[in-house]
Amino acid sequence: MSTIFKKILDGEAPASFVYRDDRVAAFMDIQPVNPGHVLVVPIEPVELLHELDDDTCGRMMQVARAISLAIRRSGIPCEGVNLLMADGEAAGQEVPHVHLHVFPRLAGDGFGLKFAPRYYKLPPRADLDAAASQIRAALESP
Ligand code: AMP
Repeated sequence: MSTIFKKILDGEAPASFVYRDDRVAAFMDIQPVNPGHVLVVPIEPVELLHELDDDTCGRMMQVARAISLAIRRSGIPCEGVNLLMADGEAAGQEVPHVHLHVFPRLAGDGFGLKFAPRYYKLPPRADLDAAASQIRAALESP
């Protein structure tokens, strides 16, 4: 499926690039949470994080870390940085091409994640142990 990010990477749609190598690119988000909001994307047009190979996945995080530091040093207002990925539509992913948001945060900037009321009641340890066991089993399966 061709997405707007594939068009940007292919030079068929405009973007303000920050970085590009053989695996990863980074460009400014068109609708920034705050000025300086960057998207780090793999060149390969895959939708979900687990579809990426390890090297590209690692490169994405290295580039995000470098950009995070660059934002802090750039003179753009920045008191903290969020790295955020929506992996799947239910998680809020709108563009089906893996991307990692890197954006500056300022105290009181109005950005936030919304929690359901049940979030504030801690689950029993047995529930955490059960979930951990399920995930461990899935990690160990081929
Ligand atoms: P998500 O909701 O995590 O899938 O984020 C998609 C992001 O892509 C949003 O922050 C959009 O503002 C951004 N976006 C959509 N179209 C463009 C575009 N043409 N250039 C740059 N960023 C874009």
